[in-house]
Amino acid sequence: MASAPSWPLWIEQQLVRRGIRDRRVLAAMAAIPREGFVPPQEQLHAGEDAPLPIGCGQTISQPYVNALSLEALALKGSERVLDVGTGSGYQAALLTCLAAEVHTIEVHAELLDRARANLAVYRRAPVYCHLGDGRLGWPDAAPYEGIVVGAWAREPPPALVEQLAPGGRLVIPLGSESGQTLVCLRKLPSGALEREELVKVRFVPLVRPPEGGRLGRR
Ligand code: SAH
Repeated sequence: MASAPSWPLWIEQQLVRRGIRDRRVLAAMAAIPREGFVPPQEQLHAGEDAPLPIGCGQTISQPYVNALSLEALALKGSERVLDVGTGSGYQAALLTCLAAEVHTIEVHAELLDRARANLAVYRRAPVYCHLGDGRLGWPDAAPYEGIVVGAWAREPPPALVEQLAPGGRLVIPLGSESGQTLVCLRKLPSGALEREELVKVRFVPLVRPPEGGRLGRR
């Protein structure tokens, strides 16, 4: 019998023991260093089993939540995917290990600039960074076989459902300020959505962009 691969200890403890099984996801988590995406003052905490601040009042998820979201997308490597809420760029970098082409969209120009720099170092496949309102998706590159949203909404944004390819999956935290559930929605060939609830989570909200902010296509 082939022996089980031996993962770094943190991956065993934080991910494998909690049930993450997709070896491509585990390999991506092992390949992309979270330290490369957290600000200097958080470096010492980069290995912790917890969310961390990344500036502009935003946070990078607990690694388990990144892994669970990525596993739910069930990517094979040939897909075009959309990451909503670029933040530090960590989730987008992980996606470049799992899909062929990654689009990521962020509402804060300052975060997007930093994420671009981080991704230039760590990306494994083409990644396109867009400044804009992620609630509207990025129609120019649609459809996407996978969409992952790093901020909560009350309902799945209709534009994201629209931009999902048949058979594609949308992973998004749904709920309210008091708490959310990470949900995987699969678009059936009929266009109907099949819903699977993954875990209770606490995310930052998917917000309306600031009036008059530096926002636009570039
Ligand atoms: N996945 C990120 C962390 C996401 S934090 C990472 O790996 O680092 C949620 C991000 O969503 C924040 O950066 C926030 O600015 C962004 N965000 C919130 N509302 C948004 C919107 N309407 N459009 C695009 N990004 C949004």
